[in-house]
Amino acid sequence: MELTWFSAKIEKRQSAIHGRGLFARQAIARDEIVIVKGGYVLTEAQRDAVSIALGPAEIQITEDLFIGPTTRAEREGGMMHLNHSCEPNLGLQGQIVFVAMREIAAGEELNIDYAMTDDEPYEMVCGCEAENCRKVVTGFDWKDPEIQSRYNGYFTWFIQRRIDGE
Ligand SMILES: [Zn+2]
Repeated sequence: MELTWFSAKIEKRQSAIHGRGLFARQAIARDEIVIVKGGYVLTEAQRDAVSIALGPAEIQITEDLFIGPTTRAEREGGMMHLNHSCEPNLGLQGQIVFVAMREIAAGEELNIDYAMTDDEPYEMVCGCEAENCRKVVTGFDWKDPEIQSRYNGYFTWFIQRRIDGE
């Protein structure tokens, strides 16, 4: 048994964006569930300790908690290898369910916009080659009103709740 559930329609492969990525093996319909992220619920301190050995393999699920694998043996089955794109085809429902935001063709790489899940101080140079690429992605991009309206309904729950409360 693996920690994370992957649809039989997707597989991990080498990515042109970064390292390995997830790809559609066959067409995926809009709103279809493609990944359910699993793992252990981790505090920030636990996450920081785990990531020394495993690298980034978790996602944030509340203001203070994360979910992901804790050992090297669990890493492959727990990690999504979901790359960032400024023009993503997946979004979230809740915190761990990833759905197609549009129809996805066979062969397409699956990605999210890290603005949908992240609320942490960092900066990352983006080479996603989307027409609207932000070039530099930060851990606070969810605060951008244009991004908020573009992904409305597809942010992770704790970020969506903040946006809805504004
Ligand atoms: Zn980009």
